[in-house]
Amino acid sequence: MNAVIGPNLPDTQGHFGPYGGRYVPETLMHPLQQLEDEYARAQKDPAFRREFEYYLREFCGRPTPLYFAERLTGELGGAKIFLKREDLLHTGAHKINNCIGQILLARRMGKSRIIAETGAGQHGVATATVAAMFGLKCVVYMGAVDCERQALNVYRMKMLGAEVVPVKAGQQTLKEAINEAMRDWVTHVRTTHYILGTVYGAHPYPMMVRNFQRVIGDETRRQILEKEERLPDLLVACVGGGSNAMGLFYPFLEDASVKMAGVEAGGEGIEAGKHAARFQGGSLGVLQGTRSFLLQDEYGQIQLTHSVSAGLDYAAVGPEHAWLRDQKRVEYTYATDEQALEAFMKLARLEGIIPALESAHAIAEVMRRAPKLGKDKLVIVNLSGRGDKDVAQVAEKVGLQMPK
Ligand SMILES: *Cc1c(COP(=O)(O)O)cnc(C)c1O
Repeated sequence: MNAVIGPNLPDTQGHFGPYGGRYVPETLMHPLQQLEDEYARAQKDPAFRREFEYYLREFCGRPTPLYFAERLTGELGGAKIFLKREDLLHTGAHKINNCIGQILLARRMGKSRIIAETGAGQHGVATATVAAMFGLKCVVYMGAVDCERQALNVYRMKMLGAEVVPVKAGQQTLKEAINEAMRDWVTHVRTTHYILGTVYGAHPYPMMVRNFQRVIGDETRRQILEKEERLPDLLVACVGGGSNAMGLFYPFLEDASVKMAGVEAGGEGIEAGKHAARFQGGSLGVLQGTRSFLLQDEYGQIQLTHSVSAGLDYAAVGPEHAWLRDQKRVEYTYATDEQALEAFMKLARLEGIIPALESAHAIAEVMRRAPKLGKDKLVIVNLSGRGDKDVAQVAEKVGLQMPK
C-alpha cells in the first residue's frame, strides 16, 4: 500500500494532501497556535497521558466491549458481526473521549471558560459533563431546530450547569451553531477554550480530535485479536464530521487487508437533493477553518442538508476523510433515512440494543454487505452512540402508539 496513507499525516501545517489547513480570521491564529503548542507538549508528557487514560477508564467506563452480535449475524447469514460499544460510554456516545482530552488541555492552558457547538446534542452534553466535572463555566451553541428535535439533550446540558444558546440564523442547525461558537471564541480568546466536537475545523483540531478518538480503534484491535486471533476484514462507521470513524479506522490504516467503509447521511435520497452525503454531491471548498468536501452550489454558497439524524446533518466532512477517499483507502457510501430507521428497529429487536440514529446508518450498511460476505469474514461496526435521544422521533416516524 501507498506509504503516505500511514499515520504520518497531517504535515506541520495541518494538511492531509490538498485538504485541511488553517483558514481563520487573524484573531484566531494566536489561540490556534497556542493550542497546537500545548497539545504538542502534552503529547510528550507521560503525566498527561496517564491523566487522560485515568478519566477514560474511571469516569467514562473504558474499555468498551467489542460485542459479538450473534442474532444479527444469524439473521443476515454471512459475515460475523461485532459491535464496538461506544454507546455504553458515560453520556452515551464516543464524543466524551475527545472532551476529556480537550478539557485537560484547557486546564493546562489556564482557561476558565469552555464553549462548544452541538448538533444532536451529544457533544454538548459531553462538553457540559466534563466542564461540570472540572468546575469550568460552559456555554453551548445549538441550532434552534436541533434544540427542538433533541430537547432531551438540551435539558441534560442545563441540568449539568451549562448555558445553552439556541442559534436562530440560517438553517438553524449545526453549521450555524459552529459560526456562533467561532464568533464567541474570537471575542473571548484569552479566557476561553473552544472544544470542537469532531475531526473538523482549523489545524490542529482534525489531528487532535482523531488522536483522542483513536482509543476506539486501539481497543478494537486488541479485542479482535484476543477473540478471533486475527484482524477484521471490514470496519464500518457512520460519518458526520467523521470523528468516530477516524477513531476506529486510524489504527488500522496500514493494514492493507482491513477494508473500511464510511457511511454518510443519504437523507431522502441523493437525487432529491435532501441529504448530507458530501461525497455524493459535494466538491472542494473552504468552510469553518478547513479545506474539504462540501455541499455547495455553483457560487460557493453552502447548500441545505437533510438527515433524520442531527449528528450527521452537516454540509462538510473532515479533511482526513477527503484524503482517505482520494487514496481509495476508505470507501464512502450512504444510507437513507428510511434505511437507517429500518436498521434502528432491527438492532433493537434482534440484539436488545437501541442505537443512535447516526449509528443506525452504519448498521444499515452492514445489513447490505454482511449477507454477501462469507461466514469466515469478520465485520466490525462502530456503535457510536445509544438511541435514547432518538426514541420519541423514531416512535413518531414508525407510527408507534401509546397504549390506551
Ligand atoms: C455526533 C455523533 C456522530 C457524528 O459525529 P462524527 O464526528 O462523525 O463521529 C455519530 N454518532 C453519534 C452517536 C454522535 O453523537
